[in-house]
Amino acid sequence: MVTAGASCVACGSDEDLVAHHKLPRRYGGLDVLDNLEPVCRRCHPAVEQEAIARAKLTWERPEWPESPRPKRPRPRLIRP
Ligand SMILES: [Zn+2]
Repeated sequence: MVTAGASCVACGSDEDLVAHHKLPRRYGGLDVLDNLEPVCRRCHPAVEQEAIARAKLTWERPEWPESPRPKRPRPRLIRP
């Protein structure tokens, strides 16, 4: 799933690109273009780590509703 003319968002290389999930699938990220960006294989591990760290911040944000009956459920985030 790599678009012609795409380049790695981390280093700008246009070789060996893979589709990186901005929000990792295990954190509820979807296989949609909005959630994908081209990254080369060399940068992918680092970019992936960053994405996971960011997702964890969102996941474990302190304002996450502790109540068993949150006022606003978050349908886009599904606990793994
Ligand atoms: Zn790269």
